[in-house]
Amino acid sequence: MKYVSTRGQAPVLNFEETMLTGLARDGGLYVPESIPVMSAGDIAALAGLTYEEQAFRVMRPFIGDAFTDAEFEAIIARAYASFGHDARAPLVQLGPNHFLLELFHGPTLAFKDFAMQLIGQMFESALTRRGEKVTIVGATSGDTGSAAIEAFRGLDAVDVFIMYPHGRVSEVQRRQMTTPVEANVHALALDGDFDDCQAAVKDMFADFAFRDEVRLAAVNSINWGRVLAQVVYFFSSAVSLGAPKRSVSFTVPTGNFGDIFAGYIAKRMGLPIERLVVATNQNDILHRTLESGAYTKEGVTPSISPSMDIQVSSNFERALFEAYGRDGGAVAQLMDELKASGGFPVSQGAIEVLRDIYASGRASEAETSATIATMLERTGEILCPHTAVGVKVAEEQGLSAVPMITLATAHAAKFPDAVEAATGIRPPLPNRMGDLYQRPERVTRVKNDLGEIEALIRKMRKT
Ligand SMILES: *Cc1c(COP(=O)(O)O)cnc(C)c1O
Repeated sequence: MKYVSTRGQAPVLNFEETMLTGLARDGGLYVPESIPVMSAGDIAALAGLTYEEQAFRVMRPFIGDAFTDAEFEAIIARAYASFGHDARAPLVQLGPNHFLLELFHGPTLAFKDFAMQLIGQMFESALTRRGEKVTIVGATSGDTGSAAIEAFRGLDAVDVFIMYPHGRVSEVQRRQMTTPVEANVHALALDGDFDDCQAAVKDMFADFAFRDEVRLAAVNSINWGRVLAQVVYFFSSAVSLGAPKRSVSFTVPTGNFGDIFAGYIAKRMGLPIERLVVATNQNDILHRTLESGAYTKEGVTPSISPSMDIQVSSNFERALFEAYGRDGGAVAQLMDELKASGGFPVSQGAIEVLRDIYASGRASEAETSATIATMLERTGEILCPHTAVGVKVAEEQGLSAVPMITLATAHAAKFPDAVEAATGIRPPLPNRMGDLYQRPERVTRVKNDLGEIEALIRKMRKT
């Protein structure tokens, strides 16, 4: 299996190189050269298997000869061993034909654990075999960073630097990043917003001298390995509701477009998905783009669902690449236009392709809070604000004979202030999170200045 860049200029890589590299050298994102298809029989055969067995079968065609079957099985087993639920991604019912896919039973209580735990194990296995070390640099709006630090802490072959926007992540998110004691993990609080953090990471990758000196690797949602890991739970949940005989729809709380793009990959692989619904908060660039046909950046307004407070949606580039018929030159042009003028019009042909695949909706702050309150009343479930955005948008889609699955992307206890404001109830952390509020914090404050950030990384890395 070969991987090509969405901008058409970077070298073609195999799975292992793609995973270890993250961002392509032409600034693009790697995607598989072709998408493997599972037959209806292959999909039906997933029923009744463990999550780990399903994960192996869904991901195996994408990894080529990066790992032997036995290695890959062991990697998957280690990745999900720390989850607090035997089903890994259980489904609960919210209402008539509306289901919630609980993706928050991992060690940092958000869906990003599914991908990050797997990537951590894949990196360790591949780098140890190659006798190499890498420096992982990531930008986070809160959940990616905590999941990355949790997945890579204490590994020998990796230093991890995570930049988050100072003052704009929840206390639980911050503490999950600042309390691990291992010397190879570093939390950096950047003076800026999430898009600034993301831009700094992109600029570091474009600084080839620095990139090669510290052997930069990225585990942001641009990393293909992360998208791939997320494809699995679209299959596991759909199969438990009767796929491939029965179609399902998904509503996905969306920021960087990684999770919903994984749903698109599942669909391309043959999973009968009727609707893929993009749900955004008030930072609604994706919803506006699908409605108006123009991708136009506006300022980020902080919300109670901070992990979706994004105006530059990295993985959307992958969707554009598909919508433009895999024309890397066209995508590179759009991205230049975005950098120069803060937006671009999507061509008529491409927007029609996108609208055919994705529906969309948005939830205001008030609608998000109201959804948390009414769902508690109607079902007894306490939703996190991101999940509430999804549930609100899913309900707008109306009842259908096709089951709707809304992705529950985080545990309510990760955003206790917003949940308490909506319901009067402060959701407690699960017991296994124990003493998070008591542990000492360790963090370095940085200015939004590339030279300063790079100097700091040179100084602090242990490898
Ligand atoms: C990251 C995140 C999202 C958005 O996911 P994308 O893949 O970036 O679209 C939604 N909810 C939560 C809780 C998250 O952590």
